[in-house]
Amino acid sequence: MTTEEVGCEQDNSFPDRFNANYLKVYYGRLFPYVDMFKWLSYGNDGKHPGCDQSYFGRREFSFTLDNNIYLRFQSFNTASDLENAIKEKCPFKIDIGAVYNVDPAKRHAYAQGDNNFTPLERELVFDIDISDYDDVRYCCSGADVCSNCWPLMTVAIKVIDTSLREDFGFNHILWVYSGRRGVHCWVCDLKARRLNNEQRAAVADYFRVYKGNENSNRKVSLMGPALHPFLVRSYTEVLRDSFENKLLSSQNLFSSQERCEKILEMIPDEHIVSELRAKWQENKRVKDDINVFRWEQLKHLLQSGKHKAQGIRRCVEEIVFSFTYPRLDMEVSRHLNHLLKAPFCVHPQTGRVCIPIDPKECEEFDPADAPTLSRLLGELNMGGFRADMDSEWDGTSLGKSVRYFRQSFLQPLLKSCKGDIESCYSAKVEQGKNSLSW
Ligand SMILES: [Zn+2]
Repeated sequence: MTTEEVGCEQDNSFPDRFNANYLKVYYGRLFPYVDMFKWLSYGNDGKHPGCDQSYFGRREFSFTLDNNIYLRFQSFNTASDLENAIKEKCPFKIDIGAVYNVDPAKRHAYAQGDNNFTPLERELVFDIDISDYDDVRYCCSGADVCSNCWPLMTVAIKVIDTSLREDFGFNHILWVYSGRRGVHCWVCDLKARRLNNEQRAAVADYFRVYKGNENSNRKVSLMGPALHPFLVRSYTEVLRDSFENKLLSSQNLFSSQERCEKILEMIPDEHIVSELRAKWQENKRVKDDINVFRWEQLKHLLQSGKHKAQGIRRCVEEIVFSFTYPRLDMEVSRHLNHLLKAPFCVHPQTGRVCIPIDPKECEEFDPADAPTLSRLLGELNMGGFRADMDSEWDGTSLGKSVRYFRQSFLQPLLKSCKGDIESCYSAKVEQGKNSLSW
């Protein structure tokens, strides 16, 4: 099918009506199969004798087809196997699962034997969804997102990315826009891929500061005599700044009595609460931003010499954490065999491509700029393809994303995979020699 037959017009409206014919063209001409194959092969597609040629073929893919038909445990041996299956089935959604001990498509053959079907490896993944922030954003709710609440996702990327690199020593981290309301993170270092469920749960717990449930007033409880260095760094480098310079005003956090009361509920001292409430009843009209004004009053009162009790001083930090700290879907991170939507998929409700986000430039990322299927097809129709271009995506708004994926993520990753494979192989050879000499 050609794009002319699809008859698409350039249309950047949001949300974009999802169209299966558009999706066919996308899979036919734009989806970066080879890059995805190279990524998920982790160097095992090379010629080195240490390569595990079965590696990619033991990875689970799952396709969601039209009418919610769900195909789990799909597997492919080569980039062209993957390409052919995607083009033929035209999945609305592609999920990536674990690498198993055997080919997932043949799992039944192994179900009864000694060789039970078991997940062995999988990227450490994080899923952050803006709908989990509904109690701290007033501009949108549910799946909706706008430029006033998206900074919550930017905060999450900065906090988690910095910690994964500095506290855990991971280097190969891919952030991806989920196509609608959140972000996904894939940690691809060998030592991350080989974490077991308990270790994954421990990493997820490291990021947990939320205690209690929906009904408790203080969602964040920063316990102990001193804050953990990770929380101090997150607070001083990211959270405080984005709370005070962005969210405070853009979310109008102190603009109504109801919103003020919500914040007062987090202060565990009745005298301070009544003093603040009285002040805020007076200053309904101030020259400056009312949110900034009231926040300064709150800070002044809580941090003044009168209130030396640590719980009260800590309260300012707890409020900032409550409104800004990343909210992870812990279950996604805990399990080796949890599925997660593949990068470069298209979100069926928005028509937007799940493009990578450069954490170094996450401030500039605007979900409303993520290419939609109709925009991409419009660009293809304009005939942007030139002979000097690598692929058709090169001439479209997808080009920047594929180039980032290749140059900033894939190249350094594959370089380190090559090192891993070589050192693992020489260790094996050495071991072989030693056992022979016995
Ligand atoms: Zn919003």
